[in-house]
Amino acid sequence: MQGKLELLLGPMRSNKTAELLRRADMRRQYASQYVMVLKPNDDTKGGPGVVESRNPMGHGKMDAVEFKSTNPWEVLQAIAETEKNIGKRVECIAIDEGQFVEGLFAFARYLLDAGHDVLVAGLDLDFRAIPFGEMLNLTWFVNAYGGSVTECIAYCACGNRAFYSQRLIKGQPAPWDSPVKLPGDSYEPRCAEHFVLPGRPH
Ligand SMILES: [Zn+2]
Repeated sequence: MQGKLELLLGPMRSNKTAELLRRADMRRQYASQYVMVLKPNDDTKGGPGVVESRNPMGHGKMDAVEFKSTNPWEVLQAIAETEKNIGKRVECIAIDEGQFVEGLFAFARYLLDAGHDVLVAGLDLDFRAIPFGEMLNLTWFVNAYGGSVTECIAYCACGNRAFYSQRLIKGQPAPWDSPVKLPGDSYEPRCAEHFVLPGRPH
């Protein structure tokens, strides 16, 4: 039987990771499911890691299997080994920071077709306010396979709902052509009125 997809979308500081961990914890506690938490991390070659919510009031942290964002398929071996060790299926795969995973759509389809329920949390838009990776494409699975889309809510400092992740470099709005990866940048959720993107071409 195919699995179902629970998709958690939102800007920075919308408690996506806390919600992912809460759902993983509920499945473990109340449904006696084995939940494997995955996290893309290009700094390591895979292995043990930790997924941690930035919200101190959130669900804390959880052990995670790290994998290279360019090759999520390497995780299939870890799933197979885990299933051998626990003597049953891994019922649920929870993926954090899904926007970084290359080939996320195909990877999610493989997991769903293999019968795993899949939870994916990630940013819907990048700092230029365009779709980030393949997160938005995953809504198709919710229609076709069943499951749910949750829009995680964040607020701008003005009090309005924030749909954008404002990138800041040394406290100033980052220009449109700033590099994708930049050490020392930071983000805050902003509404349309307060989202600033200097140098935006159109
Ligand atoms: Zn605002």
